[in-house]
Amino acid sequence: MTFGKIKTFITVTIATLAALSASAQRQLPAGHNSQHSSLLASQNSSANPFKIENNSRLLQDVKQREEMFDNEVFSVAWESQLVNPYGNDVVIPERKDIDVSEYVAPVTGIVTSNYGYRPRFGRNHKGIDLALHVGDTVRAAFSGKVRLTRYERAGYGHYVVIRHENGLETVYGHLSRALVKPNQYVKAGEPIALGGNTGRSTGPHLHFETRYLGLAINPADIIDFENKTVLRDVFTFNKKIHGVLPPVKAKASKKRTYASRKRSSKKK
Ligand SMILES: [Zn+2]
Repeated sequence: MTFGKIKTFITVTIATLAALSASAQRQLPAGHNSQHSSLLASQNSSANPFKIENNSRLLQDVKQREEMFDNEVFSVAWESQLVNPYGNDVVIPERKDIDVSEYVAPVTGIVTSNYGYRPRFGRNHKGIDLALHVGDTVRAAFSGKVRLTRYERAGYGHYVVIRHENGLETVYGHLSRALVKPNQYVKAGEPIALGGNTGRSTGPHLHFETRYLGLAINPADIIDFENKTVLRDVFTFNKKIHGVLPPVKAKASKKRTYASRKRSSKKK
């Protein structure tokens, strides 16, 4: 209700009460209420100075709601116990610019194993391995919200999955233990776990994955692990490059060559 309408309503109410008390027996004309309704409806509020203020407040509310809507990032496919909670039904955009500028190295160790096809195991390594000592602090690569802290004996061991405001998810595997709980907000660089050697692991290390809508992206396409920084502040996800895992057969090497060529050219 606008200020003008409130004012009219109060005036009408007082007038009505006065009229009623003056002559309690007297009935209001049948058309009285409808007359007032039409009067209220025809009030022009465009000249009302309160309207502009109301509008800016309204815009602010819309903006806040939009921001909350943006945080749909934290509601879509959230309630899942899977490392890829999106499944195969999700629509993958052709391209998407992802702000990765706030990156903090999860551990200080060097890369001990790269992303990609491992002929020895006949399967894809969906992350990158980083050296650490058992008990070393593992930090959140970006700000976000912890989605999972789980244990998988035959795989990740103790692991943490964090979803980030930029839409990426990061996975931290083979931990001694998690220091965070699901639904907890964390800042980039905040300790989230202690490194370890749990699950299918052949020595202490951090298995680190970067995923977008469930797709494992080569972390080295985003991060310069040697210099503990990002290659670029904005990582451009390209469905043609990142939307498919390297095939598990011969073509894999071609794909990897392309990816590494791309990486080395980026570094220059
Ligand atoms: Zn690994």
